Amino acid sequence: MKDPNKKYIAILGSTGSIGTQALDVIRNNKDRFVVEVLTAENNATLLIEQAAEFRPNVVVIGNEALYDAVKAALDPLHIKVYCGAKSLVSVVEMETIDIVLTALVGYAGLMPTIHAIKAGKHIALANKETLVVAGDIVTSLAQKHKVAILPVDSEHSAIFQCLPGEGMNPIEKIILTASGGPFRGKKRAELEQVTKKQALKHPNWSMGAKITIDSASLMNKGLEVIEAKWLFGLNADQIDVVVHPQSIIHSMVQFEDGSIKAQMGLPDMKLPIQYALAFPERLPSEYPRFDFLNYPSLTFEKPDTDTFQNLSLAYEALRKGGNMACILNAANEIAVEKFLQDELTFLEMPDLIAECMAKVPYIAIPTLDDYIQTDRNTREMARTITQMKIK
Ligand code: NAD
Ligand code: MG
Repeated sequence: MKDPNKKYIAILGSTGSIGTQALDVIRNNKDRFVVEVLTAENNATLLIEQAAEFRPNVVVIGNEALYDAVKAALDPLHIKVYCGAKSLVSVVEMETIDIVLTALVGYAGLMPTIHAIKAGKHIALANKETLVVAGDIVTSLAQKHKVAILPVDSEHSAIFQCLPGEGMNPIEKIILTASGGPFRGKKRAELEQVTKKQALKHPNWSMGAKITIDSASLMNKGLEVIEAKWLFGLNADQIDVVVHPQSIIHSMVQFEDGSIKAQMGLPDMKLPIQYALAFPERLPSEYPRFDFLNYPSLTFEKPDTDTFQNLSLAYEALRKGGNMACILNAANEIAVEKFLQDELTFLEMPDLIAECMAKVPYIAIPTLDDYIQTDRNTREMARTITQMKIK
């Protein structure tokens, strides 16, 4: 029997940065949340540890080679264990689940999210790639099935937190803040030789490898611009980006009378995670409080799109529409993978993405199958281009 006072949650990607912080939030609010499902791709040890603590109904380990070990560890606890990508899309449909937190990384988030929406589950969306790849399909399905897509990304949570009380007042524009990443202020010549170790050092946030590289290259902000379009129904001209190195203002909304609302606080992902899971309530927390006197100067700069071309590529993809953002995303996933394997340099990443955007066939009104095919074709092309460069 479900406890009607608690929300039952599936965490896809529970061993990652967002996943572990979500479990911190739940650990502090056990009277409000029940963990129903946990999933991970490779980190079986942590997944087993989490399952032993939170006692979910089901766990999924993506990597099938790890199934036996996870099963052996969790059988005595009567926790069901499944494996493989196919299991992810079926577990999200479990009747007991209220909210699915998509804390897995990349394109892999798309199909489980679609299945969860069709099964009537609310989505706490950390996986921005889902909206970048197929925002039109995902948002219209959410409308059709009357489920909420609750943003976890701090910028989008900030905007979401600025909207209650505004009724039908239209948004004139939103201003997404960006920390600028570890290479803020550097010019192209200085970025030629940067290593993955330097790129993996984010000044304000501790996150998974892919989003950390995306933050260094400003692709993360580009993906967030596209994510914002779908979450808030805006066009490209209504979405501005401003670099704000202190990461205290998490983003802003400007209304038609010129008034701007900002949401602020210390950079800590637990707050937006908690807001999404508890929405529409705010739960009390013990997280450290922001003190204005410790930050006498909050500063703002224009993003340098000559140096960080990914941001311009994302705007271009957004303006072109169709499957262009899907191409951008797939090419970027391969670019980051190859950069982390030392097969591409930092500055070669946007070149690879631009080349894929120019060469993969454009589809103006894609179906879900078109997106799946576009993702596949783009990855293949990006791998081939990289391979040819190495030779
Ligand atoms: P991470 O790399 O730390 O964790 C990823 C999780 O997903 C892990 O549990 C991993 O096992 C799982 N996973 C990886 N590949 C998978 C696959 N192919 N199939 C199924 N599961 C897979 O990543 P993260 O930093 O927690 O980011 C997760 C998502 O949240 C990303 O989309 C990211 O853009 C978004 N996000 C993260 C932050 C942050 O602070 N970390 C902030 C905003 C948005
Ligand atoms: Mg963000």
